[in-house]
Amino acid sequence: MTTQTTPGSVRPEAWNKPLPSIDPDNEAFWEGLRDHELLLWTCNQCGEQYWPKCYCVKHENEPFASNMAWKASSGQGKIFAMNRHHWAFHPGFKEDVPYTYAIVELDEGPLISSTIVGEQPADLMDVGLPVRVVYEDHAAEGFTLPRFELIAQ
Ligand SMILES: [Zn+2]
Repeated sequence: MTTQTTPGSVRPEAWNKPLPSIDPDNEAFWEGLRDHELLLWTCNQCGEQYWPKCYCVKHENEPFASNMAWKASSGQGKIFAMNRHHWAFHPGFKEDVPYTYAIVELDEGPLISSTIVGEQPADLMDVGLPVRVVYEDHAAEGFTLPRFELIAQ
């Protein structure tokens, strides 16, 4: 099985993993991914960006977070922390191991977790490596996942 993922790639095999939890609070985020945009929840007053959706810690947010909106991020950041999974804790991951799970600190500030595709970090202690988002489309299931790849230095 190939695990090659490039921007806008489609993995044709059937999805056999847990489904993402898409609800009215985050469906705009998932729609953004389908359009190949990584959206962050953004304060219209100060520009602070958040993920997942929350209130701006710097401002009054009433009524109903009306000063907040989803806005596109750069999709770039750096590895904040990572580890390598050698064991599949769900049958759907058995052909993926080993894979690198990472927490990425986006350039805009929020932390987001995903996996590293393509070239793998040689040293798991090498935090701070620059990465960018790639979009893994699962058209049959109707969602797109954000993955990250290393940016050549
Ligand atoms: Zn704010």
